Amino acid sequence: MNRLILLCLLLATALHAADGKLIITYLNMPKHGLAVVVQTPGGGTWMIDTGPQSDTYDAGRDTIEPFLKARGITQIDGIAISHPHGDHYGGAMWLLDHMPVKTFVDTGYSARGFSLAYSRLRQHAQERGAKYIAATEGDKLDFDSALTVEVLSPPKTMHNLDSDPAKITEHGLLNTNSLFLRMQHGQNVLFFPGDAYGTGQRYVLEKTPEEKLKAAVVTAPHHGFNTHPEFAAATKPKYAIASCLDFYAGSEVPSPGEKLTKQFEPLGTQVFVTAWHGNIEITSDGKDVAAKTEK
Ligand SMILES: [Zn+2]
Repeated sequence: MNRLILLCLLLATALHAADGKLIITYLNMPKHGLAVVVQTPGGGTWMIDTGPQSDTYDAGRDTIEPFLKARGITQIDGIAISHPHGDHYGGAMWLLDHMPVKTFVDTGYSARGFSLAYSRLRQHAQERGAKYIAATEGDKLDFDSALTVEVLSPPKTMHNLDSDPAKITEHGLLNTNSLFLRMQHGQNVLFFPGDAYGTGQRYVLEKTPEEKLKAAVVTAPHHGFNTHPEFAAATKPKYAIASCLDFYAGSEVPSPGEKLTKQFEPLGTQVFVTAWHGNIEITSDGKDVAAKTEK
């Protein structure tokens, strides 16, 4: 592409971000994970999760930072980590070391299954100057004055083995205690449930008034593997989005995208999957939402 045209497109995108709209981008990554860029109506930038990190791939270095730079973004107002699993926090270290990050949010979970690696990351965020917030049910996060971001789960006492002793493994315990966010922009509601399993989703369904559950956009819980049918029916969104690979060999659910499509299409919901559509961009003007995909 002609460089001048490219520059104009980049500038247009950067300007576009500050015109009072909310822009959410689900980043497509070559490895399994979740990384969502939130460009707020007031021009701020938050990350909800930061994708994975390994010897060969770092979502912070290889996907998130290049994306932010291309949009003219040089600092991050906040990173919210849904739960301490590597496919969600892997890219955060790179971002903390290479860009100013003002706030670092998680649930404060530090019980069973909590890792030393994550503990170091939480510590490192504070050493790098980020304000640390441990957020649980009932708290509100200050993403932007035009947005209401509420934490619906986990409860202050955390979901524990008593919640569902038969089903919660150590891995599942971390998932179920994901930071479960409800974001409202004008008339539009967007859900970010992290990897909350059925226990976490049922908790939110029980505690949240029905009218607050209706949504424009739902991030599929646990990459599309585990969306509770009642959560799908209660939210009945215009768009459901899964960040996942196309195929997981040996998994009970080999294609979460296909599972999600079967669950949501009967509700009239349009389903997007990062592996199929590339980066998925949702724009809200406070009344309507629109989706644009890379492929
Ligand atoms: Zn995950």
